[in-house]
Amino acid sequence: MKKYDYLVVGAGLYGAVFANQAKAAGRKVLVVEKRPHIAGNIYTEEMEGIQVHHYGAHIFHTNDRKVWEYITRFADFNRFTNSPVANYHGELYSLPFNMYTFYQMWGVTTPEQAQAKIAEQRKAAGITEPKNLEEQAISLVGTDIYEKLIKGYTQKQWGRSCTELPSFIIRRLPVRFTFDNNYFNALYQGIPVGGYTRLVERLLEGIEVRLNTDYLAEKDALDALADKVVYTGPIDAYFGYRLGALEYRSVRFETEVLNLPNFQGNAAVNYTDSETPWTRIIEHKWFEFGAGSDTKTVISREYSSEWKPGDEPYYPVNDEKNGALYAEYRKLAEQEDQVIFGGRLGEYRYYDMDAVIAAALSRAEEEL
Ligand code: FAD
Repeated sequence: MKKYDYLVVGAGLYGAVFANQAKAAGRKVLVVEKRPHIAGNIYTEEMEGIQVHHYGAHIFHTNDRKVWEYITRFADFNRFTNSPVANYHGELYSLPFNMYTFYQMWGVTTPEQAQAKIAEQRKAAGITEPKNLEEQAISLVGTDIYEKLIKGYTQKQWGRSCTELPSFIIRRLPVRFTFDNNYFNALYQGIPVGGYTRLVERLLEGIEVRLNTDYLAEKDALDALADKVVYTGPIDAYFGYRLGALEYRSVRFETEVLNLPNFQGNAAVNYTDSETPWTRIIEHKWFEFGAGSDTKTVISREYSSEWKPGDEPYYPVNDEKNGALYAEYRKLAEQEDQVIFGGRLGEYRYYDMDAVIAAALSRAEEEL
């Protein structure tokens, strides 16, 4: 008899949801986390009374009622609606592209006028078969929106010119001919009151958690404690990178406390020109309608950066090379019958939070 039924590696959202379900089913669970804190990449920490999203802005949104009902058992959510603003050399535009954007760009006031403007620019560009991202964007939204709102931002994000990027990246662009600045088409949306870390604390209530514990460094000793392992770390690291390292795209954050009550009046402002080195600035207090200090604010500048082995992994690279390498690791994973590989790193895929919760709930249902 081992001491625990499950050893959960990683105290991120996947691990926390699985651990919570396992405990609720009467199983004994130990969670180990190599960072000095729980909550994985949704970790928020309080600065000046403001919940700061340490690994990038996180906005919860879902159409899945089951996920919403589940997660709201652990936190109240506020009514935050994601409505980013684009700043192009000091000109401000509403996002996603909608009637407000078209009015700001061209002074048009009706959908018909906006559609005519886009059609006119598309025709002038004379693109029939878009060969790259630039041509694809122009054929979808015209030259002005491409030049001011897509070109610089996309180049910074990918570190490559839009003429060198494939068109499929923006096969569809959210374009609306209504006055609607709500970025997500989701039935449920918001930010957990008190921050994501508190939400994860509640998921892990009554469960033993060991921080600063790298599973891979103490694998034999930890494996000896539990019947089964739920591994939410990087799949290639689990196998000692024996087939090579999977690649990621990275982001770097520079967080600053400013002696100002209000820096930009919105949670997210995207800098869409190519000269500004950051892609966007997040002002964290506006996720909570100005919570915290009346005299200070906390902002984070985001920079896209090339990923090198050893950097924090953010976005999996969904190209052929990495897809094929992941498929090889997946075969190895299938031979580990006492290990469940889950979450964004364990499955090497981009997962929104609601999808990670749904995946952990369904795995727990199969398992428990
Ligand atoms: P993680 O949160 O990464 O948790 C895995 C944990 O395992 C980590 O804490 C890690 O330290 C730990 N670990 C790894 N290896 C070991 C080891 N050897 N031993 C012990 N512990 C280990 N989703 C949304 O729905 N809305 C958003 O607005 C949104 N914004 C995002 C912005 C950015 C920049 C990024 C990158 C993602 C965003 N997401 C968003 C997605 C969201 O972050 C993920 O859905 C979520 O974090 C996935 O949880 P996870 O548990 O799979 O992974």
